Amino acid sequence: MGAALALARHGHEVTLLEAFDAPRPLGSGLLLQPTGLKALATLGLEESIRAHGAPIHRLDGRDLSGRKVLDVDYADWRKGGHGIGIHRGVLFGSLHNALAPAGVTLVTGARIVRVEDRRRPVLHDAAGRAHGPFDLAVIADGSASSLRPLLKPRSRAWPYPWGAVWANAPDPEDAWAGALRQVYDRAEVMVGVLPVGHGPGGEGERLVSLFWSLPTADFDAFQAGDFGAWKARVRGIWPAVAPLLESLSGPDDMARAVYRDVWVGRWTAGATVLIGDAAHGTSPQLGQGANLALVDGVELGERFAAPVTSVTVAVGAYEASRRRHVMLYQFVSWAMTPLFQSHGGFWASVRRWLFTPLSRAPGIRQFGAAVLTGTARLGRWPDATRP
Ligand SMILES: Cc1cc2nc3c(=O)[nH]c(=O)nc-3n(C[C@H](O)[C@H](O)[C@H](O)COP(=O)(O)OP(=O)(O)OC[C@H]3O[C@@H](n4cnc5c(N)ncnc54)[C@H](O)[C@@H]3O)c2cc1C
Repeated sequence: MGAALALARHGHEVTLLEAFDAPRPLGSGLLLQPTGLKALATLGLEESIRAHGAPIHRLDGRDLSGRKVLDVDYADWRKGGHGIGIHRGVLFGSLHNALAPAGVTLVTGARIVRVEDRRRPVLHDAAGRAHGPFDLAVIADGSASSLRPLLKPRSRAWPYPWGAVWANAPDPEDAWAGALRQVYDRAEVMVGVLPVGHGPGGEGERLVSLFWSLPTADFDAFQAGDFGAWKARVRGIWPAVAPLLESLSGPDDMARAVYRDVWVGRWTAGATVLIGDAAHGTSPQLGQGANLALVDGVELGERFAAPVTSVTVAVGAYEASRRRHVMLYQFVSWAMTPLFQSHGGFWASVRRWLFTPLSRAPGIRQFGAAVLTGTARLGRWPDATRP
């Protein structure tokens, strides 16, 4: 939706082909970084996001003894800097509501299964309809992309062995305001709370997203298990979350989330380009995926702000520039995830003895803040996305 809006705002005729019959958001909450917020500002959507979301000034992760493991202050990146915790439905609604006024034609129930002719793409859906030909096809079908292997047979998307279950819970007193908080027991247990502000209705109680990390192989056991015993375990690990657990009645209240490490090589093929998780999905440990995807969309739009002599050359230039940002996050997410989601004590020890002390060292603290706020990039930021 972000790419569709960015291209439409530059005067292009855009058709958005969406697999859903009825558009709907998935999942609970996410953290918008200064990068994603700037991309949304360029799309004219920052105001509605800020009106609904919850400002986040710190990332605070502790072990069971209360010792700080992750301690990032947005002020170490920039004075007054912050992220916004947002309900996915709000982000989805803001983008979706902007499509029609921007002139984007939305076609739902169009699950694309084949791309014909990469130079002048025609997209075929599962119902046998052909869409196009188009000057450019932007493939943004997520980390489980079914089109990626067709366009890039050598690409890989390794499912990560750990995932998470998520739920939203009311926080009427705004007790969790200001920070993304996590508590860890070695790298095997992670409980997190992210304030996300108001839900899609706008009014009503403030919400937080509560997440619990677990191996994907344990999803079914969690679903079938004793929910009361799980709640008691979480309360034992982190007593402060007890009021949040009260609103959850069973495992069906918790949504499952799985991640993939996506490796594609080149993102482009003729006049087709992969963006977002389809191009560079990672684990959400650094909370960057939606931000990277929004920046992708806006920077792609900028490449087509003026007439181009060759679409292939324009998408190649887009890729070369975007990689200087994305590569860093793919690598750091891949390297950091076992420190927070893995079996045994090895990675937790690396975290305790190496990662945490290093992250506090002068200079590295500022660099860490730049990485965790999504703002580290090799080379210059384009004006449209410079945070
Ligand atoms: C547990 C969890 C927590 C996260 N937390 C954060 C966070 O705090 N901050 C952050 O920035 N990111 C976070 N992320 C990552 C973020 O959700 C993703 O990076 C982001 O949604 C990627 O956006 P996308 O548009 O590329 O793909 P998606 O959001 O996956 O969207 C893909 C779209 O393509 C459609 N589609 C799929 N197949 C087809 C097809 N064949 N034809 C037509 N349409 C199709 C789908 O219906 C969907 O609308 C988190 C992810 C998880 C799992």
